[in-house]
Amino acid sequence: MAKLVLRRGAESRLRAGHPWIYRTQVADLKGFTRAGEAVDVVDAGGRFVGRGFYNPRPSLCCRLLTRRDETIDAEFFVRRLEAAREYRRAAGLVADAYRLCWSEADALPGLVVDRYGPVSVMQCLTLGMSGVHEWIEAALGRMFPDGRVHRQDDATAARLEGFEPRQDPPDAELVITEEDCRFAVTPGAGHKTGLYLDQVVNRRLVARHAAGRRILDAFCYSGAFACHLLRAGATHALLLDSSADALALARRNLELNGVAGQAELREGNAFDVLRELEAAGERFGAIVLDPPPFTRRKDAVEAAARGYKEINIRALRLLEPSGVLATFSCSHHITPALFEEICRDAAGDAGIHPRHLHTLTQNPDHPVLLTIPESRYLTGLLLQRPA
Ligand code: SAH
Repeated sequence: MAKLVLRRGAESRLRAGHPWIYRTQVADLKGFTRAGEAVDVVDAGGRFVGRGFYNPRPSLCCRLLTRRDETIDAEFFVRRLEAAREYRRAAGLVADAYRLCWSEADALPGLVVDRYGPVSVMQCLTLGMSGVHEWIEAALGRMFPDGRVHRQDDATAARLEGFEPRQDPPDAELVITEEDCRFAVTPGAGHKTGLYLDQVVNRRLVARHAAGRRILDAFCYSGAFACHLLRAGATHALLLDSSADALALARRNLELNGVAGQAELREGNAFDVLRELEAAGERFGAIVLDPPPFTRRKDAVEAAARGYKEINIRALRLLEPSGVLATFSCSHHITPALFEEICRDAAGDAGIHPRHLHTLTQNPDHPVLLTIPESRYLTGLLLQRPA
């Protein structure tokens, strides 16, 4: 097996539980033949550190798959995926739709698997993972004998890693249940693998504040928040998105849940519409702000922070007394502390001093590893305007 020799000192972060190796940390590579193959990682003194797929193309060239002397083969994937399922089973997270495997956080860096009814939607994010897709598919076939696998590789990651992403043509629509709601999912069409599964716990939490209130679901995508809030007793919902396709999906979901009659859908830029709503003196008892990432780069954090601040000022002003705001960031580079700071600034500018009811994060089927801070990307706050 090929051997990757680390520069002196580079092993300390790996030994402390972080799996990433950058090209600048590599001192030597011996016996390497093929991009994406598994290599042994050793420290400068030749001691074994772990094993992972190596790709010379991206600066993040290797992610440890194991710290033990075990063979990376089909059985390895069965063990890892079974462990991922066991964690979710014990935690009560196995549902009609859930994330089975979350990359680094499930010790399978570069692999995401979401389950929708009988379908496993599989996403390869590294060359190494895409090279062993048959083992992964076989493991999933063994775990879910009645199901099928839909491949939906991430195009951005594939470009970075230098492989041809496999994106199977859209499947037939499935209707899955999420607690009290039903949602249409078409593997291979739309965002992510089909649904924003990372928000499940937050939808439940915000729904507790919905009864009897008029609500605003801004950046609604499939309208999943609005459906939960209406089912929980909200009187009316305004759903807002800049994409007509998203709104069509939201309409379908509102209908599936029998709440379309209480909803209004509006296509537009949230930055403009929030301003218009404020100018018109509109008020809401619950508002969800779940925008797409405003930055994917570290050097654009400041501009992103201005964007978050602006929409949060407007949303706070749109709250009626005792109204709640669930506000999120899914930008990797916006830490929970920074997001809280941005919202504090927004509250100061809005002249509203909300209660901080909860700090929100991704659903626990997208686990966060303490030693891998990057495994947390979704952060949010549940705020309440005082009466
Ligand atoms: N809350 C949703 C997920 C939101 S994804 C859920 O739980 O399912 C972010 C959404 O924001 C996408 O649907 C995208 O079309 C929309 N969007 C992006 N930029 C926007 C903008 N400037 N104004 C309004 N919507 C926008």
